[in-house]
Amino acid sequence: MEEPTIFEKIISGDIPADIVLDGEGFLAFRDINPQAPEHVLVIPKTKIRGIHELNLLDAETLYAFMQGIRKTALHLGLEEGGYRVVFNTGKDAQQSVDYIHAHILGGRAMTWPPG
Ligand code: C5P
Repeated sequence: MEEPTIFEKIISGDIPADIVLDGEGFLAFRDINPQAPEHVLVIPKTKIRGIHELNLLDAETLYAFMQGIRKTALHLGLEEGGYRVVFNTGKDAQQSVDYIHAHILGGRAMTWPPG
């Protein structure tokens, strides 16, 4: 069996995390290495590795995950100032955890293009 990723250990409670929202079908927690005043990760409670495996999620789970991103941004009070949602996917994007996660970054003005 595959070794669980760090995010599966966060879902099971084996590793502590600063939980922002524990919702129906999604979990939002603060990134341990924040890149903005607000930096929160949102994950579905069902594992897929990344955007490239979205086809493996059923519509209901995918919907709950996407709504989880919106609900978390709202909870953080970011809707007025705006925020960035990032899905690092694969090697070139430097995805480091093999469990899909949306980064919500906010609380400061962003630049483009990203690094
Ligand atoms: O997109 P990427 O895979 O690089 O993002 C993984 C993120 O998970 C990193 O921003 C890292 O700081 C975060 N992380 C975390 N808690 C852990 C391990 C990693 O917030 N225990």
